[in-house]
Amino acid sequence: MNYVVKHNKVLVTGGAGFIGSNLIDALLANENTVVCLDNFATGKIENLEAAKSNPNFTLIEGDIRDRNTCIKAVEGCDYVLHQAALGSVPRSIADPITSTEVNIVGFVNMLFAAKEAGVKRFVYAASSSTYGDHKALPKVEHVIGNSLSPYAITKYVDELFAKNFSDIYGIETVGLRYFNVFGRRQDPNGAYAAVIPKFVSSLIKHESPKINGDGSYSRDFTYIDNVIQANQLAASVPTEILKERLKDYQNSLAGVPKVSEEATISEVFNVAYGERASLNDLAGALKKGLSKYDSEIANIAFQYGPNRAGDVPHSHAAIEKGKTILGYAPKYSLETGLKEACEWYWGNLK
Ligand code: NAD
Repeated sequence: MNYVVKHNKVLVTGGAGFIGSNLIDALLANENTVVCLDNFATGKIENLEAAKSNPNFTLIEGDIRDRNTCIKAVEGCDYVLHQAALGSVPRSIADPITSTEVNIVGFVNMLFAAKEAGVKRFVYAASSSTYGDHKALPKVEHVIGNSLSPYAITKYVDELFAKNFSDIYGIETVGLRYFNVFGRRQDPNGAYAAVIPKFVSSLIKHESPKINGDGSYSRDFTYIDNVIQANQLAASVPTEILKERLKDYQNSLAGVPKVSEEATISEVFNVAYGERASLNDLAGALKKGLSKYDSEIANIAFQYGPNRAGDVPHSHAAIEKGKTILGYAPKYSLETGLKEACEWYWGNLK
């Protein structure tokens, strides 16, 4: 059975951002009532263009660092999909204090408010950066290394708080460790833009994109629609089914920590496609994808610079846990996702 969130009231924090706004559109399409809480630090009102005209949508402009704002936003909600955070490893290295305030204090404010409001489940954006310097590939959820950046620390601390709140207060929490998400609405501008929109925007302008390092670093690039599916499942698969499947998963893989049947659900899952591509592979695929619209793009050469501090060399997710427990079945590969993304960027950036 394919679970989706339908006819519920859902709070999406960070809903004016790339991932949050896509979640909101999917939730509204399923006849949910949606509240968006965002302070527009990096989000944009244009991302909510479609949502704004829907009578089931409410926008609260506010900051998760303010506890009363969180309490007000979550009132009457069945689920929280917590996306609000300051993303980017380099941003957190440049300003670790603000990233910590938003990503940890803001997170705990929201988690506390959700617990007080008695939501059915708190689903939150975790991160593949939590794997840190652990070299094993593919990454399995229960084996992590040392954090390589303030951003990675904040995301790991969030997981610790989520587990602790589940243990102490009984709130169900599900963390989704996103791996390099890409797709429509991801911002190509600014110092902290993600690699795919940055490369696409340069190629469209006939500029030569810059790769940090020699291009051999690899990532498990994840198309936005796979992320939407994971969020829907993480919120809506019933508790009893999660517990049953969790037991099967624990028995199937050596080393998975055993969780007692009485424990409140508090799990983390990789959200990825389950394959990795190097930055050089990505560069080639983007040139190919965009040359369909402008043949000159095929001739643009990439530049190479030094590796960036805090970057993990390789990232590749094992997605068996999500498959077994949530029923996660990502539909878009890097190739099919890039096809959609290139079409969107061509229509919107050109
Ligand atoms: P984004 O920057 O587009 O969205 C984040 C949103 O949070 C923005 O709309 C921003 O305005 C809002 N926000 C920031 N600070 C806030 C505050 N103090 N109060 C209220 N709202 C605030 O980024 P995204 O790529 O959509 O990321 C969404 C979530 O997914 C984040 O938690 C991020 O850490 C996580 N994540 C993203 C990726 C990825 O590849 N995009 C990978 C791993 C984890």
